[in-house]
Amino acid sequence: MSVWAILVAAGRGERLGLDRPKAFAKLGDEPLLAEPLRRLDACPWVDAMVIVAPPGWEEPAILLAEEEGCDKVRACVTGGETRSDSVRAGLTEVPGDAVVVLVHDAARPLVSDEVVERVLAPLAEGWDGVVPGLPVGDTLKRVGSDGGIEETVGRAGLWAVQTPQAFAADVLRRAQANGAEATDCAGLVEASGGRVKVVDGDPRLLKVTSEADLATVREWL
Ligand code: C5P
Repeated sequence: MSVWAILVAAGRGERLGLDRPKAFAKLGDEPLLAEPLRRLDACPWVDAMVIVAPPGWEEPAILLAEEEGCDKVRACVTGGETRSDSVRAGLTEVPGDAVVVLVHDAARPLVSDEVVERVLAPLAEGWDGVVPGLPVGDTLKRVGSDGGIEETVGRAGLWAVQTPQAFAADVLRRAQANGAEATDCAGLVEASGGRVKVVDGDPRLLKVTSEADLATVREWL
């Protein structure tokens, strides 16, 4: 079974307020991107990888992969306006004989072999996709533009979903083909009728969106 990882790193990361894209924010002495790159490259379940870089940052991304000795990286492509566009760009470099595609946010640097194994295993049972998630612990409210609560949303059965997300390659290609948009790949596969399973995620798969998140990940490292 050949597993291709697409590492999407083309977000602007405006909330970090830096002069560079989020993937190149400093995490210790290295750019954030170095951590997930190294981890996926060393993961025994991943055969090959495509990096999706921010426009103008393709060369630094390739250099970084070389410096880190990541020999599973087969291509680096330019990302698009939205995350879905970036995944589509990455998919163009995944060969037709790939069986599984694993899509991972570079903004979640602490990806582990264990979570990759957890999302790959159910594909063999016939699931179209598998995503890691955590049950929602907080009480959820829908809030209006004036700050007033409009509704309390029952949290039973609600999960916060993370990446890496694994899909049968042909299913993901079909779901992405019509230019649809979603904040994660599972959303597109669900919309096209695919069956997607949730498995246990990992709190350490925190998505870096703020300076405080960067500090948390630095601490965990
Ligand atoms: O923007 P969001 O938080 O959903 O980003 C999740 C991941 O998707 C990040 O790793 C980011 O770099 C990537 N992304 C991308 N292209 C975009 C937007 C986000 O590759 N246009």
